[in-house]
Amino acid sequence: MTNQTIYLTSLDKDVIALAQDFVKYPSITPDDQGCLTHLAQLLKQKGWQTHIVIYENVTNLYARIGTGGPHLCFAGHVDVVPTGPVEQWDHPPFQAEIHDGILFGRGIADMKGGIACFLSAINTFSLPKDASISILLTSDEEGDAINGTKRMVDWMQENNQNPDVFLIGEPTGNTVGSVVQIGRRGSLTGQLTVLGKQGHIAYPEHFDNPVTKVVACAHSLKNMLLDRARDPDFEPSRLEFTSIDTGNTASNVIWGQCQGRFGIRFNTQQNAADLAEKVTTICRETAQTDPMIRISGDPFLINKSDSKDKNWLSCVHHGLRKTTRQSAQETTQGGITDGRFLTQLGPVLEVGLPEQTIHQVNEHVSVDDLHQLKSCYVNILETFFYGASADTQPE
Ligand SMILES: [Zn+2]
Repeated sequence: MTNQTIYLTSLDKDVIALAQDFVKYPSITPDDQGCLTHLAQLLKQKGWQTHIVIYENVTNLYARIGTGGPHLCFAGHVDVVPTGPVEQWDHPPFQAEIHDGILFGRGIADMKGGIACFLSAINTFSLPKDASISILLTSDEEGDAINGTKRMVDWMQENNQNPDVFLIGEPTGNTVGSVVQIGRRGSLTGQLTVLGKQGHIAYPEHFDNPVTKVVACAHSLKNMLLDRARDPDFEPSRLEFTSIDTGNTASNVIWGQCQGRFGIRFNTQQNAADLAEKVTTICRETAQTDPMIRISGDPFLINKSDSKDKNWLSCVHHGLRKTTRQSAQETTQGGITDGRFLTQLGPVLEVGLPEQTIHQVNEHVSVDDLHQLKSCYVNILETFFYGASADTQPE
């Protein structure tokens, strides 16, 4: 962790330069490359209380300005996925080059650009006396997600940090401000290893084919009843096999072992523990084997019958409409995020940059999108802290 270059040198730069600074840290999960410590120093200079919290090899930052309420927390991650083949990038993944109004870089959309937009929005915003804004950033979202937000939720409770609402800057939708993420599906993955007896394919009396059992199990799992009804807020829960494999390259040998892998993305009609139990029962019945199951998280959804959740959602809608002049769509589609941990503490909504290029070679966003997202965040902050009536005059 020594000799790391400091790219973040000021929070007063414009949003584009700030986003470029973030991209220049090659912070492949879970190594933040010093980024969060450098950011903490800058926030401290501006009067924020900052806490760098390290769990094993993961650095987390919690910072807060103000001591009272209301209290809005912006959450996210500075770690990025690997670049893939660097020679396939048109512009180097960590140099943040801009060509024809497009900023290229690993993590610019997911989600360093979102962080830059939020920091820049706060810089132009005057927080009411006694109110608070906090920032929770981790470098363990794209990886195991064990020593990041998950543990920071416990840390926040132990340290009496209780934000009223959470905004995550993860990529959402195809155009800035057109979509607000109001929840996410849960995720569970399973692996089933079935042992048989190896033998020549022409002598069925001498072998026991494990593939047959895995296929039967796959069939039963696919036919398992998931949702009882169509869910108005979510896509149907869905199980997919990602692999059935023996590693066998010969055509006349029955292999002695077969592995099946599957994943389930599920809505709020399910919970992970019950689902794991159901899946285990089916694997036992059809393949006489217990699967290895990993639960990534239960689904979550904003609670529209709760007044705090409802208010937060209408603040975000109002802020987006003020920026885009259109109503944002609500969605629960897409992959999992750290929202699954934060939902324990308060209502979570997500608004960020376009998601089309995330995790791809040549990840990019337009400079205009960064300006637009910053404006969305400014309008969300204004609505949350000063109310919707404070900005009724047309701009
Ligand atoms: Zn992300």
